[in-house]
Amino acid sequence: MTKPLTAPIIDGRIIDGKAIAAALRAEIAVKVSAAGFTPGLAVVLVGENPASTVYVRTKDRAAREAGIAARTIRLPADTTQAVLLATIEALNGDDTIDGILVQLPLPKGIDSQAVIAAIDAAKDVDGFHPTNVGHLADGRPGLVPCTPLGVMKLLRATGVEISGARAVVLGRSAIVGRPMARLLLAADATVTIAHSRTRDLPAECRRADILIVAVGRPEIVRGDWIQPGATVIDVGINRLPDGRLVGDVAFDECAGIAGAITPVPGGVGPMTVACLLENTLTAALLRRCL
Ligand code: NDP
Repeated sequence: MTKPLTAPIIDGRIIDGKAIAAALRAEIAVKVSAAGFTPGLAVVLVGENPASTVYVRTKDRAAREAGIAARTIRLPADTTQAVLLATIEALNGDDTIDGILVQLPLPKGIDSQAVIAAIDAAKDVDGFHPTNVGHLADGRPGLVPCTPLGVMKLLRATGVEISGARAVVLGRSAIVGRPMARLLLAADATVTIAHSRTRDLPAECRRADILIVAVGRPEIVRGDWIQPGATVIDVGINRLPDGRLVGDVAFDECAGIAGAITPVPGGVGPMTVACLLENTLTAALLRRCL
């Protein structure tokens, strides 16, 4: 069951990710200015995938606004894996850089796993390096993927009781679903992971006090999949043929049933960027043993 909601939430039900992210970014800016040094973030973009280009610009701007020195390294689409690995090696050895993020997806022919594994785990602000994945799986401290980290912060902002709650994570990707489930487990939720082979998806979702949806299928979750009062977090971002941006949850059907729900856009998306900044500051402090 959800607890009464706290600010900054609008309408008592809609979780205002934009406002919560803005508050987090402001908090990070204060911590950065008090840190006595300037954290450095390097974002590596290979090729000109339009969505990736927009994401990288957003991250770069947000980092600068928080007082983080952001550097975007743009490499042509025909960059070889060897050149990309050499770029990462140079960033690993660059003492002004605390965080390294390689924007995914990478062009065909480049082995993403090998690239991620080449990043110094202490600078892996995306939390995708096998060492950080292992720490999360073990419930040990480490750098955690930004989107699931942002979801946990949204849940905490709603005041929902996570400990003991039945949480269902729809989607099992390495980037969202799996780390999400691990974070919920670490917060003492009883976690179910559902996916494309799950037998009765609506029934699994209806059991959830907390439902996290990260599938990439426009509005797959319908109103009758939601337990009344449940907290629903929609990670999905889908562009419809008519240009509209929608989530994985049919918002209009679910908003009146859920106890709290994120909109798309303005829910999880802004938290992902804010958590990247937080991870950069965390990495910077840890590297300096502060
Ligand atoms: P992936 O495609 O990597 O994974 C999708 C998952 O959903 C898989 O586990 C898949 O199951 C499952 N799935 C797919 N179709 C169905 C179905 N019909 N029924 C049940 N399960 C299904 O996606 P991501 O995790 O990377 O992203 C998910 C969504 O989140 C996307 O819309 C993406 O754009 C968005 N996203 C948003 C972010 C943000 O900042 N807001 C950040 C990252 C992603 P199986 O494993 O069985 O194939």
